[in-house]
Amino acid sequence: MTGITQDARTELNAQDDCIFCKIIAGDFGTEFVYEDEYVVAFDDLHPQKPVHTLIVPRYHVENLEDHPDPQLLGQIFSAIPKVAAIKGVNESGYRVIQNNGAGAGQTVFHLHVHLLGGGSFTEGMV
Ligand code: AMP
Ligand code: ZN
Repeated sequence: MTGITQDARTELNAQDDCIFCKIIAGDFGTEFVYEDEYVVAFDDLHPQKPVHTLIVPRYHVENLEDHPDPQLLGQIFSAIPKVAAIKGVNESGYRVIQNNGAGAGQTVFHLHVHLLGGGSFTEGMV
C-alpha cells in the first residue's frame, strides 16, 4: 500500500473494492491534476472531450442517493472552477455531469463529477 496509512483510509471510509478509493490512496500512481484536503481530480481514462477530468471526494459515498453531507458537495463544487482553470477551459466554457445509478450510466460507485471542456457542445445533452 502506498500513499496513505490504513488508519487514514478507515477515517476516509475507503472501500477495498473501490477503484477510486484506490486511486485516491495512490495505489496506481495516478497523476492528480488538482488535490486538496477534500477532493482529488484526475483525467478520465476514456476522455469524451479534449478535457475530461474527474473530481472525486476523498470520502467514499456512492452517489447522491447516499445523501452525502452538503458540506462535501460544496467542497466538490468549489474545486470545479479551480480544476477548469488548471485545464485551461475556464474561459472557453465547460460542462459538469454527475451520474447517479446504473440507469444513468454510473459505472464507478464512488461519487464523482465529470468536467468536460474543449471542442463543441452542440450535439445535445442539455
Ligand atoms: P461514471 O460512468 O459516471 O461512473 O464515470 C466513471 C468514469 O470513470 C468513466 O468515464 C471511466 O472512463 C472512468 N474511469 C474508470 N476507471 C478509471 C481509472 N482507473 N482512471 C481514470 N478514469 C477511470
Ligand atoms: Zn471509493
